[in-house]
Amino acid sequence: PAPPPDPDPRPMVRFDAVTRRFADVTAVDRLSLDIREGEFFALLGPSGCGKSTLLRMLAGFERPDAGRILLAGEDIVPVPPYRRPVNMMFQSYALFPHLTVAGNIAFGLKQERLPKAEIETRVAEMLRLARLEGLGGRKPHQLSGGQRQRVALARALAKHPKVLLLDEPLAALDKKLREETQFELMELQDRLGTTFVIVTHDQEEAMTVADRIAVMNQGHVVQVGTPSEIYEQPRSRWVAGFIGDVNLIEGELVSAGPDGAVVQDRAGRRFLAEAASFSAAPGGTVALAVRPEKFRVSTTPPADATVNGLSGRVVDIGYLGDLSIYKVRLDDGTLVKASVTNIRRHAAREIDWEDAVWLSFAPEAAVVLGE
Ligand code: ATP
Repeated sequence: PAPPPDPDPRPMVRFDAVTRRFADVTAVDRLSLDIREGEFFALLGPSGCGKSTLLRMLAGFERPDAGRILLAGEDIVPVPPYRRPVNMMFQSYALFPHLTVAGNIAFGLKQERLPKAEIETRVAEMLRLARLEGLGGRKPHQLSGGQRQRVALARALAKHPKVLLLDEPLAALDKKLREETQFELMELQDRLGTTFVIVTHDQEEAMTVADRIAVMNQGHVVQVGTPSEIYEQPRSRWVAGFIGDVNLIEGELVSAGPDGAVVQDRAGRRFLAEAASFSAAPGGTVALAVRPEKFRVSTTPPADATVNGLSGRVVDIGYLGDLSIYKVRLDDGTLVKASVTNIRRHAAREIDWEDAVWLSFAPEAAVVLGE
């Protein structure tokens, strides 16, 4: 495995062994993490993993019990929230209903006592950036949900923060609007180059918007990487299962070397996998992780002896339009899931319930995970 890249010598945000406890709960546990300047960074994890607490400590709404938080090299723990060069975007219902769009955007700037001309320039800039031109005089209730969301964003960006914090900002929107807003956020972040940190429990949202993701569980960061690194090279069973669908073939590590790893399952079948980063000695218990779309499904055995093959019977087919999902009961009783892209019409009909099928996968399509 390749060595990890050099740590960024000048991260925009550095959490250095940060801990936050509430009574008997350790919400964040000696957590260290770097966020680079200009990246769209997601904190992703299940409910209660500590992601909001981490964001709130960056904003200054919570104080760490131990550790340091550096922003552009400065320890900001003693700095009160309103003096920190960060801003939090709240959900759109936190807009002031009695103020106009322009008034909402100007609010924080007035509190900072910026000169009137500067405030007007900034409000105009934000209306343009958030595609709200011509709507400056409206009240929030005269806007669509998407427009209100953009006002909340414009308000948070008006002070030109070094880091914009977003805590589940899109949770209240329906699916379609949420997806649109995700693309708007990405586009805006790209244009501004401001560091964005979003908290979400929605893995699709994190994969869509983020340059890098920190996957959190129980107060710890369990993996950091780009969306494709996290999806293609999960470091643990937990991460593999949390991000997307995965089939785990349980077995024993036979050998591991530069040419790959050999894993033998309980039925004695042997599989070759690309040697990913894992910590198991030969003889150790491992799992081979294969994503459903990595399988090739066929009604004949694979011709190429170098690919891995499994045989079984189709017990269920789910037709999703773009994809068909096959549930296959392997000969040893294990149930696995394979997904196939429906490029041709009626592709889902070519393989039917109860058909005997072979699932094959290339060594580089599988990841070996330790216990
Ligand atoms: P969610 O997605 O549900 O918001 P989260 O990952 O953001 O979850 P946190 O809100 O950071 O999680 O909470 C982490 C843990 O700390 C949880 O067990 C939570 O109950 C606890 N916690 C958070 N804030 C407080 C508080 N003010 N007082 C007591 N316990 C708290």
